[in-house]
Amino acid sequence: MNDDIVIACANLVDRAGAAGFEIGHTGDDDEPAEDVQWYAFAAYRGARVISDGHRSPTAAALGLAERLLAGAMCRCTQPVTVSDSRPGCRWRLVGQRWEPSCDAAPVTVSGGGRGDMAAIQHAMAQVPPGGNRAARRAAKRRRR
Ligand SMILES: [Zn+2]
Repeated sequence: MNDDIVIACANLVDRAGAAGFEIGHTGDDDEPAEDVQWYAFAAYRGARVISDGHRSPTAAALGLAERLLAGAMCRCTQPVTVSDSRPGCRWRLVGQRWEPSCDAAPVTVSGGGRGDMAAIQHAMAQVPPGGNRAARRAAKRRRR
C-alpha cells in the first residue's frame, strides 16, 4: 500500500465536498489475498462515486481519484485533466496532495453542507470565468 496515494485520495474526496470516504475490501479476513478485491468510494447525499474491483488499496485510491477528477471542473473553470495530451487544467499528484496547475482560489460552498452535490454545483456556477484569481491575488497581498 502506497500511503501517499491513499492520503491524497482521502484529501481529494474531502476537497470535492463529499460527506464521507471509505476504503476497504471484499471477502473475509481468512480469504486468500489474491482473491480479495479492493474498493474506495466518496459518499454524497444519496449518491456515491465508487471505484472497485482493484487488487490493492493503492489501486482503489488511485482509481477513485481519477474518477473524481475526470469530468470535473477545476476552480479555474477549466475541465480537469491528468494528461498532457488533453486540454484543461492539468492536475498532478504532488506528494500527498492532488494539485491543480492554476492559482485560482478555492471555491467555498455555502449552505447545504457536506455531501450536497446540488449546493456544490450551485457554488461552482457562481465562479467567474478563469476562477477567483482576484481573490487569490488579494490574499497574497495581505500575507506580505
Ligand atoms: Zn485550475
